[in-house]
Amino acid sequence: MSSQKLQPPRGTRDLIGDEFRRHHRVIKTARRISALYGFEEWATPIFEDTRVFARGLGETSDVVSKEMYVFEDRGGDSVTLRPENTAGVCRALVSNGLTQSLPRKVFYAGPMFRYERPQAGRYRQFHQIGAEILGVAEPLADAEVIACGYHIQRELGIAEGSVLEVNTLGDTESRDAYRAALVLHFSAHRDSLSEDSQRRLEKNPLRIIDSKDEGDRRLVADAPTIAAYLTPTARAHWDVLRRHLDAFGVPFRENPRIVRGLDYYSHTAFEFVTDRLGAQGTVMGGGRYDGLVEEMGGPPTPSVGWAAGVERLAMLLEAGDLTPPAPRLVNVIPVSEAEEGVAMAVLQSLRAGGIAAEMGYRGNLKRRMERANKQNARAALIVGEAEAARGVVQLRDLDAGTQEEVPVDALVERLRG
Ligand code: ATP
Ligand code: MG
Repeated sequence: MSSQKLQPPRGTRDLIGDEFRRHHRVIKTARRISALYGFEEWATPIFEDTRVFARGLGETSDVVSKEMYVFEDRGGDSVTLRPENTAGVCRALVSNGLTQSLPRKVFYAGPMFRYERPQAGRYRQFHQIGAEILGVAEPLADAEVIACGYHIQRELGIAEGSVLEVNTLGDTESRDAYRAALVLHFSAHRDSLSEDSQRRLEKNPLRIIDSKDEGDRRLVADAPTIAAYLTPTARAHWDVLRRHLDAFGVPFRENPRIVRGLDYYSHTAFEFVTDRLGAQGTVMGGGRYDGLVEEMGGPPTPSVGWAAGVERLAMLLEAGDLTPPAPRLVNVIPVSEAEEGVAMAVLQSLRAGGIAAEMGYRGNLKRRMERANKQNARAALIVGEAEAARGVVQLRDLDAGTQEEVPVDALVERLRG
């Protein structure tokens, strides 16, 4: 190995200490709240057949066209590190024959991979939590999945800092009409569009609305919105969704500029945005994807869901909002090597009884007491020759500085109190 120090790959991070605890708190909270809404957790592979993500020629999203980790494995198959988990969940629904037992409500948490330019809140390996309701066409599902996402942010104490922005992308008919109107609008300004957007104009003009380019954004400001092109069905879905959000007590703002980064959405599209994370302002995003399960080879399965970046949610947590620290330890101390065996039995009986405990690996009584104090142990259990013979230990309360003799049998009970 060269003498150069090894570093984590660009755009990846080690989660250690407080950083891990914050991360863990987000996932634990999301797990608990999503269960209250009836979601069951799934875990799908972190790599999939590339076709799960790149479906046909229509794919124009940045994620699929520029950001995927695609490689050929040793068997010559093209596989991709998942950039998101919705496609994997839909694939799993079909692979496992679960399209016969709908609806399903699925929660997931895990790492995702995108080849992006790393910056604060944007990584190449990051983590998402997500919730999907599969097999429900009613806008009640859209509202419920959003309410769950909002509830998670409330529970994390960060809902105040983010705003829910919702939009409708209509059904296919609405979108076709809207697309024609957009093509008309942007074609008139073709030369002022960014190179990317000129390409989008051909392939998927809706994407232009999502462009981050300054020049594009000016043209987008005068572009028509979809409202005038909604079919009665699409309008009904949109109206009912907003009523349901009110009924669930979820505050929101309408934003006709939300189209979302992935190509498969219809009807509802939404984002929770914050101004507290600089350029990386979207913490949670999602929408309805009625055609995706079918693209995976399943039957038509109207579905809706969201994903949220765990790192971004964790960045919003205050320093004081960490997962409670690990329980304070009890430190078991054999006075000499002869008592080590007895001390080890005591140690295991504590752990079996649900008491967090440790024993040092070496050192005399003084060294071991120092270690117990240094790790902020709540008690030291001293096992000397006389104690070992009588089945007792000296229990020293390290906070109070008091010491008493306690029978080994009574220890768990005593330390639980
Ligand atoms: P952005 O506009 O920030 O690139 P996106 O539209 O690509 O986001 P989605 O595909 O909707 O994001 O993913 C949902 C959430 O996952 C985002 O809102 C964000 O919180 C998080 N996320 C996406 N990409 C990254 C990344 N590279 N690093 C960290 N978090 C990410
Ligand atoms: Mg992105």
